[in-house]
Amino acid sequence: MQTTVPKGAPVPQTFGEALRAGPTTRVDEIDTRGTPGFDGDKAAAAELMPELADVVSELQERLYAESKGGGQRSVLLVIQGMDTSGKGGIMRHVVGAMDPQGVALTSFKVPSDEERRHPFLWRIRRALPRPGEIGVFDRSHYEDVLVVRVHDLVPRSQWSRRYGQIATFERGLVESGTTVVKVMLHISKDEQRARLAERLARPDKHWKYNPGDIDEREHWDEYMEAYQSVLERTSTESAPWYVVPADRKWYARLAVMQLLKEHLEAMDPRWPAADFDVEVEQERLEHT
Ligand code: ATP
Repeated sequence: MQTTVPKGAPVPQTFGEALRAGPTTRVDEIDTRGTPGFDGDKAAAAELMPELADVVSELQERLYAESKGGGQRSVLLVIQGMDTSGKGGIMRHVVGAMDPQGVALTSFKVPSDEERRHPFLWRIRRALPRPGEIGVFDRSHYEDVLVVRVHDLVPRSQWSRRYGQIATFERGLVESGTTVVKVMLHISKDEQRARLAERLARPDKHWKYNPGDIDEREHWDEYMEAYQSVLERTSTESAPWYVVPADRKWYARLAVMQLLKEHLEAMDPRWPAADFDVEVEQERLEHT
């Protein structure tokens, strides 16, 4: 199990280490109520979140500032998960904690007629973050090997080639300065039932309910197989997947914020040096 550290093994130091999908990761063996990398409870996470948000916000500002000084780096956060897995909560609570000026959020829906006329990565390339930005994908090019595979929307020969195309595409992104952080929000089938039941029971949640979610739910096992293939074929050295147990919403939000923090810290963006003489400008200001 991903969440149990075997006796004698080093305790994971970071969320990245605790959540990263490796060759032995099995989606059906992960405890979706687990809290890998975190010993605290909901209250402890609530206390931690504002501090974390401050750290991430400052790092984001530095990344943005770096690009104004000619820096080319950016971040791409990809969020995938089954219906009700909490993608919306991540957008509100994690992405929403950052300065909107530096964030480029795109939600990928059923492709439009125009999008369908192009290769599947066409709409993805158009939504990539610019230097200094944190791009966020709410669903992504992975739909093209998830919903498309489960429903045979294109022939198998076509979707099966996409894993390699995606890996090559992402390697190119990383080589050109984009740090790619891919998150699978992993809920259990029972948790999805509970969340759908809540949406049905509460008039203020009816707007979130989509009868089509039940049809998709009937394909749960096929979706899990499709996610398994995604992890096996596209969790690469340069752009690994992180599987975030998401039955506890507070943990999923904390984990995604931590993953952002850890990746931004590793990038260590720097404030650009002034391209003017500070003392001269101070002097000039004095005389105004
Ligand atoms: P979400 O659950 O992400 O908040 P939503 O239910 O509010 O989304 P929808 O209008 O249902 O919004 O858009 C998402 C739908 O688009 C999903 O059912 C998803 O599978 C589908 N979709 C996304 N990308 C593709 C794709 N490349 N091919 C086919 N369907 C896709």
